[in-house]
Amino acid sequence: MRRNNNLYKLIRAFIGIFVAAFLCIFSKAECYADNVVVVIDPGHGGSNLGGNTDEYIEQELTIQVAKYMAERLEQYDGITVYLTHDEIGEKDLTREERATIAAEHNADFLFSLHFNMSENHNLYGAEVWTSAFGTYYQRGQEFGHIVMDGLHGDLDFFDRGVKTKLGKDGDDYYGIILYAQKKNIPAVIIEHCHLDEPRDNYFLTETENPYKTFGYVDADAVAKYFRLSSAKLGVDYSDYQYEKIDIPTLPVGQDKTSPEFCTVNLEEVRNNTAIVSINAKDSDGSIQYYQYSTDGGNNFSMLYPWNNKPDAKEALDTEEIQVEIPLVTGKEAQLTVRAYNRYELYADSSLLTLPAGEEVVVVAEDDDEYDDYEEIVIDADKSKNKKTKKDKLTEKYKKKNISEDSKPIADELFLYMIGGLLLLALIVSTFIVIYVSNLRRRRRRRRKRRRR
Ligand SMILES: [Zn+2]
Repeated sequence: MRRNNNLYKLIRAFIGIFVAAFLCIFSKAECYADNVVVVIDPGHGGSNLGGNTDEYIEQELTIQVAKYMAERLEQYDGITVYLTHDEIGEKDLTREERATIAAEHNADFLFSLHFNMSENHNLYGAEVWTSAFGTYYQRGQEFGHIVMDGLHGDLDFFDRGVKTKLGKDGDDYYGIILYAQKKNIPAVIIEHCHLDEPRDNYFLTETENPYKTFGYVDADAVAKYFRLSSAKLGVDYSDYQYEKIDIPTLPVGQDKTSPEFCTVNLEEVRNNTAIVSINAKDSDGSIQYYQYSTDGGNNFSMLYPWNNKPDAKEALDTEEIQVEIPLVTGKEAQLTVRAYNRYELYADSSLLTLPAGEEVVVVAEDDDEYDDYEEIVIDADKSKNKKTKKDKLTEKYKKKNISEDSKPIADELFLYMIGGLLLLALIVSTFIVIYVSNLRRRRRRRRKRRRR
């Protein structure tokens, strides 16, 4: 009997383990025993400053973001957070050393934080880099899209994508991703925004604490990815749903080919402006930016997002867009348009002759293409004063209220008049009723007197 009992217990334990393992493998949530361990890697350090402009040094920014990210994450339950280093100016760790630190802590994920710059100082937006391989790709992509929801969706940065890049040897190009993967740790590089483009760096000057904002966005993305909750913060992501990415059987490398074509067509000319439709396609990627030249390709405009709105932060998922291009006063323009994919490979359209613009006498307008370009850049500079999404919403809300409060005066007058007339009619009819009933009463009395 006793033996039977033990056997029963043993069977039960086996079933228990089997069920747990089954759930672990097949449940949507990743199975992290009871505690998630993440390592945050502030990019650069020591003599390696990273990107730097007159105003910003990347290694100083990444440390700040990392500290805020850790501070926020530590308020979640069931997570342990480590930093690869936490002092500005601390010796530059190699990428392999950073991955080794993550491995020593048995990290479930390694997040490398960065800020971007481009050679021609013309790119803008946020991007995330992941491994090109198997589950590392899957996890990097899944997390990447969550954090992009924050950077693009909440903070309004242009979405440059969650991308991969292979080196010549066919391995992951970025060292930190490569070494982490060799140690079985999924890793991503988060490039928050560009330090050298006004449409991005206005955020650093205009936001009260941009590094805290970035750190919290990163941290909350991690919490969502690992489905954490925080009693302290009063948030519960235990049921957080995100898009599942399939595990690729082959490495998912970068798009190595330029867009297949870029064509340009003149639709209409009005008010010294050419309305032009641009067609471009990149079937193994997508079009991200375009720019144009009106002097046959010598000078180009700034990069615009692939849509018809200069201020929009999103590229459209379409082959054709319509744009307005100012005519060049006094001379025909040779228009060419350049369409870029997400890896900055481009295709040029053939030349299209635009008619000369007319001299505008009253309004002094820039007629030189180069001036035009400067104007655009200055405009972009103005984006330093750009309002946050929240400001915009508040403003919109205010505007709505204002417009509701200040209905056209004629409308109000009309209402008052109708009201007044109704009131007058009521008073008049009351008087008539009283008068008539009085009249009847008097008549009755008179009749009664006569009968007497
Ligand atoms: Zn960097």
